[in-house]
Amino acid sequence: MTVAVLALQGAFIEHEQILSRLGVHCVELRKSEDLNQPYDGLILPGGESTVQGKLLKELGMFDRLKKQINEGLPVLGTCAGMILLAKETENDDRSYFQSLPVVVKRNAYGRQLGSFYTKGEVKGIGTVPMTFIRAPYVSRVGKDVEILSKVEEHIVAVQYRNQLAFSFHPELDEDLSIHRFFLQMLKNS
Ligand code: GLN
Repeated sequence: MTVAVLALQGAFIEHEQILSRLGVHCVELRKSEDLNQPYDGLILPGGESTVQGKLLKELGMFDRLKKQINEGLPVLGTCAGMILLAKETENDDRSYFQSLPVVVKRNAYGRQLGSFYTKGEVKGIGTVPMTFIRAPYVSRVGKDVEILSKVEEHIVAVQYRNQLAFSFHPELDEDLSIHRFFLQMLKNS
């Protein structure tokens, strides 16, 4: 099994480290030719969605990745990765893959609460550490989107078919259960 990690900007190395701890082979997607190799799943890391989205388009990776996701490639998006997947961002005109039928709010926790840590329950996974860094949350969900977790009334994790998205950064904590859950999705797909 091979997992591709979008490696243009942001916290991609941390995802790679978790995959290697789980004994999973991973490849980095840095340029358009990298999309020619086979992989069974995709991770979109946290960082800056605007920078990642711009680079994806400039490097000629955007349309092909969008097609792969829409055709069912299992994908895990964390933080900025959630924004890249979302159909719409309520406080920003830009949108990207639009494959996940949710509306997100960018930098939703404001300045003071820009970064915080908590623990919370994720449906089907259990209690996990949650590190939020200038995180988005989901303000509306479309049909067939399953809400996996809420923190203080706000939706912070969702699943829709082949797509899993988290507001927080599972790759920055020691817990491996979210990545394990994603790998199980790959095995089942
Ligand atoms: N604030 C970032 C954005 O809007 C997301 C932050 C993150 O990924 N930690 O893209």
